[in-house]
Amino acid sequence: SDSKGGDKSYIIATDTTFAPFEFTDDKNNFTGIDVDILSAIAKDQGFDYELQSLGFDAAVAALESGQADGVIAGMSITDERAKKYDFSDAYYDSGVVMAIKADDSSIKSYEDLNGKKVACKTGTEGATFAESIKDKYGFEIAYFKDSPKMYEDVKTGNTVACFEDYPVMGYGISQGNGLKMVTDMEKGSSYGFAVLKGKNAELLKMFDEGLKNIKASGEYQKILDKYIANK
Ligand code: GLN
Repeated sequence: SDSKGGDKSYIIATDTTFAPFEFTDDKNNFTGIDVDILSAIAKDQGFDYELQSLGFDAAVAALESGQADGVIAGMSITDERAKKYDFSDAYYDSGVVMAIKADDSSIKSYEDLNGKKVACKTGTEGATFAESIKDKYGFEIAYFKDSPKMYEDVKTGNTVACFEDYPVMGYGISQGNGLKMVTDMEKGSSYGFAVLKGKNAELLKMFDEGLKNIKASGEYQKILDKYIANK
């Protein structure tokens, strides 16, 4: 075959539930913006891959241990991570936001978190942000493996707020996840595809080239429109 990766099939790791970037739809298909972008880029560039839905911190751990060749998981391109990973060009802008239970009127700002506990997802930019302000505002953090568990914990009242990526929380609220936002989004990083530093340079190059091509062809925009209405 003339596939660019030769016989290689890359293992790409992703999150479990991070709609609209990756999630299982009502027909039980694993789908989302990341899933479709990767598929379109692989087709454009002619490489094979297997997508493994592991969870965010597990996906990053798989990359670090060499069990995965790349990660696409709404993964923020941060300076800290850029020391360990090589990132593709950014493909989606994000930021971190606090969310609380929809019928809660007691939390209006970070000051109201004093003496309380909040929920974060292990290893995420949201967790890093919460950690950076926890001493200033005097709250504790409980950690969860995935976004739905974090939201559930807020809804049951064990924690009073969670920190999540804005596009994911915005989408979740529009889908009726029972939460609301009461503060502005914090400036965050854009999403990129990651490989281990110095490894899989060919894969990274194909991702960047494919991304350019699917943007130029309009396919990238079509994928966004499929998941995010009225953009
Ligand atoms: N964008 C966030 C990060 O990179 C969260 C990613 C995720 O939860 N899948 O840390």
